[in-house]
Amino acid sequence: METLKPLERVNIKKAAKILLKSKNTIVLTGAGISTESGIPDFRGENGIWEKYKPEIYGNIQSFLKDPSKFWKMAEEIAPNLFNALPNSGHLALAELEKMKLIKAIVTQNIDELHQKAGAVIVYEVHGNINRFSCLGCRASYTKQQILNKLKKEKGSTPQCDYCTAPLRPSVVLFGENLPNFEKFMSIDLAKKSEVMLIAGSSLTVAPICDLPVYTLKGGGKLIIVNDQPTFLDEKAEIVINNKTGTVLPLIVEEIKRIKIKREIESNQ
Ligand code: NAD
Repeated sequence: METLKPLERVNIKKAAKILLKSKNTIVLTGAGISTESGIPDFRGENGIWEKYKPEIYGNIQSFLKDPSKFWKMAEEIAPNLFNALPNSGHLALAELEKMKLIKAIVTQNIDELHQKAGAVIVYEVHGNINRFSCLGCRASYTKQQILNKLKKEKGSTPQCDYCTAPLRPSVVLFGENLPNFEKFMSIDLAKKSEVMLIAGSSLTVAPICDLPVYTLKGGGKLIIVNDQPTFLDEKAEIVINNKTGTVLPLIVEEIKRIKIKREIESNQ
């Protein structure tokens, strides 16, 4: 558990009040919310992305030229990614959804940890690591089928059983467009939202980093929970530079406290 500064405690209380008042809140999450589940982000101090530059190993052009590079990286990161469990940050957001205080979670993550935590309305703008398809005939494969292939044919690119073309994950690689439905839905939600709660994103990956700008232009407020500063901190209503796994549950706790207090007062 991270220690909190007095100002952070004040901001957690303010965030709880804003979320309770808002009729239209959406959440935007990035890789930072999953680091406490053991999945490294791209920008933190972490060996894996130093070794495999995502822009090269996760780029569509390099993938089409030589998919083996991507699969070499995947073999190393897959066990971690597949076995990860949601942390207190994911659970807190799922609870906010159950309390009907958020309309949707727009996530850049591909790890499915929001759904594993119980959240239902999750727009995965960069796809999902649990589905795979063939580059040639589009046959689809499950995570388990891919794991079996990786185990059986160690060190080689998994191939389609039907047409032998290389397989790819259903994630958006660098250089590819976002899926249309998720893209337009998240832009629409961002434009209409009264509040956007941003958790664990450096806000540097385009075009998703524009979503909070739509919210600001529409007169909405930003609450940013990230352990490093972002380019929108100055424009945000509240910035809390601490761990999402610490801050988000405290916001939920504060919301519950306010609700109980209001209930007691209304019964008096
Ligand atoms: P990012 O790596 O650019 O930024 C993550 C941010 O979170 C950083 O500012 C970091 O300081 C902060 N952070 C790290 N741990 C934190 C914590 N516990 N609490 C609060 N802040 C924390 O991530 P991004 O903005 O999502 O963009 C990078 C791209 O990486 C995305 O496209 C995403 O698809 C992909 N990615 C996804 C995963 C995943 O699915 N878990 C992991 C790595 C990368």
